[in-house]
Amino acid sequence: MEYRLLGKTGLFVSRLCVGTLTIGPLQADLSVSQGAKIIRRALEAGVNFIDTAELYGTYEHIKEGIRGVSRQVIIASRSYAHDRAGMRKSVELALKSLQRDYVDIFLLHEQESFFTMKGHWEAVEYLLEAKKEGLVRALGISTHCIQAVRAAALLPEFDVIQPIINTAGVGIKDGGREEMLAAIREAAQLGKGLYGMKALGGGNLLDRTEEAFRFVLSISELAAVAVGMSDPAEVDYNVAFFEGRRVPERVRREVRRKKRTLIIEDWCAGCGQCVQRCTAGALSLVGGKATVDLARCRLCGYCGSVCPEFCIKII
Ligand code: SF4
Ligand code: SF4
Repeated sequence: MEYRLLGKTGLFVSRLCVGTLTIGPLQADLSVSQGAKIIRRALEAGVNFIDTAELYGTYEHIKEGIRGVSRQVIIASRSYAHDRAGMRKSVELALKSLQRDYVDIFLLHEQESFFTMKGHWEAVEYLLEAKKEGLVRALGISTHCIQAVRAAALLPEFDVIQPIINTAGVGIKDGGREEMLAAIREAAQLGKGLYGMKALGGGNLLDRTEEAFRFVLSISELAAVAVGMSDPAEVDYNVAFFEGRRVPERVRREVRRKKRTLIIEDWCAGCGQCVQRCTAGALSLVGGKATVDLARCRLCGYCGSVCPEFCIKII
């Protein structure tokens, strides 16, 4: 496994980062011991970087997964807290739940622009204090927006930016893949540590996994890429691919056999673009929200590519 320095944080992270949204109650809803096994499998294969969020509900899985691991494990978390008291509560919850003395990286979750960051400035001020006290080692933002990457790059308070990036540009809210790549390059030149997310477009690029991974791995400015995994075969597949090894045929077969489904997040705005895109007639609007008929759905992922809210996932 290759390790890279994350900007100026002093943290050496594995190129593959375990994304834990997929194991938690919002997606696969694995038990703590099942989720911990996935995390442990990745750590044993050389991964040292775990990505989570307060929202994901995976602190317990991570605590179990890293229990007894002697080498350094780097954990990134984030919360939507916007004020000092809220962010203090978020950091304290992470420290207590993970049973750690510090959280390596703490991010403002889903920032959209300079203005949303300003609206969270009390939370930033608390994180800066927490960094001085050694409770947090680096801070920054996660985002689906190009303008947020550009704004965070110019703010000296932030060490780390986690942008969405994938070969099809799925989920980028305010532009396309090339503009996001340009913003990532600018941020790296300004010394920010960057690690990507949604390399598989929330599962919508699963039928193009190798192309999608090759694309994110070609972005030299990304120290790491967080990839959600919820199955031992997915861990083996991802580790092999990120190490530049041939993925064993047995592992490929197991990943292909994995039963998948399509979910629509409850923040669907009911715009209907996905309904128009689906040629299988599997989507309709019911009560102002998109609804899927799984009997008709071919899990092609085309609908996810047109959703402006990034609320369609294949898990
Ligand atoms: S994944 Fe494909 S078939 Fe399923 S709802 Fe979306 S566009 Fe339709
Ligand atoms: S495209 Fe997205 S926001 Fe629009 S109706 Fe479909 S799921 Fe909802």
